[in-house]
Parts: sequence; C-alpha cells; structure tokens
Amino acid sequence: MDTMRRVAPTLLDPRLHERLATRGFRFTPQREQVYVVLQRKRDHPTAEEVFIRAKREMPDISMATVYNCLDALVECGLARQVTLERGATRFCPNMREHGHFYCDRCRNVFDVSLSAAPGIALPKGYLAERYDIAIHGRCPACANAERNGAKRRMNQMGEVRFRQSVI
Ligand SMILES: [Zn+2]
Ligand SMILES: [Zn+2]
Repeated sequence: MDTMRRVAPTLLDPRLHERLATRGFRFTPQREQVYVVLQRKRDHPTAEEVFIRAKREMPDISMATVYNCLDALVECGLARQVTLERGATRFCPNMREHGHFYCDRCRNVFDVSLSAAPGIALPKGYLAERYDIAIHGRCPACANAERNGAKRRMNQMGEVRFRQSVI
C-alpha cells in the first residue's frame, strides 16, 4: 500500500533537525523514528498506536519516550494533536489548514482540506486565526456498505412479502 511506504529518512532529516533546533530540542533517533512513523501512515494514530509502530523498528523505545517525542514534535509544529470528544488524542503530521472527517462507523479519521476562509459567518469583530473543524458521518466505504446492506434488507423484505402473498 502506498501509505505504508517508508519515507526516506534523508528527506526528513534536514527539516526535522532544523525544527527541533529552533525550539531548543535535541535531535534524537527516537524523535526521528516517531516522526517517520507519523509521516509513513497518515491515519491519525493515537500515542499507543505510534508506540506499537515505532517499536517494530526500535524495540527498545518506551511509551514514555514516545509521549516525549510526540510532545516535542507538536511543540515544534511538525505534528498536531487531534482530539475527539472522549476519544484518545490522535496525532496528525499534516500542518496545512484542514478539518477532520470522523467516520462514526469505522472510526477512521480523514483529512479534509479547508480553503483559507471556510464559509463560516463569524459575528462582527471576531477574528479567526485557525479553524478546528470536525465533521461526522460516513466515509465512502462505509456509506457504500450501508447502502448495500439496506438494499439487501429491502430485497429480503420484498421476498418475504412475495412469499406471504403466494401462500
Ligand atoms: Zn468508515
Ligand atoms: Zn489531520
């Protein structure tokens, strides 16, 4: 799968080094590993999921270190925290202005790009600096699955009615 492709560390290093340094963070292989994990599969993993993925290539990494690395990346503007009511905090490496689409069926979170000024009429005098927009619904796969499920149920109901009328 394309999203599983390993991002060449050489592409990440200069930016990561630079960003960490501007905020007074040291570059560490653990921070790089966590950053690579976030970049490699942009499915908004929780800290625990990041830990499991990071551990595959860095078996010695601890959960506490992963938390520390995620904090550093967020602080440096290389990742953002995404929180859904009651859910665990997730992490997103997409730093462009975007909203999040939550599929309430499969629980996946998708990025939705936002234009610079989404069509939200703010009261006079309010100045928007950034948007944190959550949209809930069904992703295309789930919407399709539900449509097909509904169709199947309708067909079954039709069959039952047909059988009853035959008897
Ligand atoms: Zn879905
Ligand atoms: Zn995102």
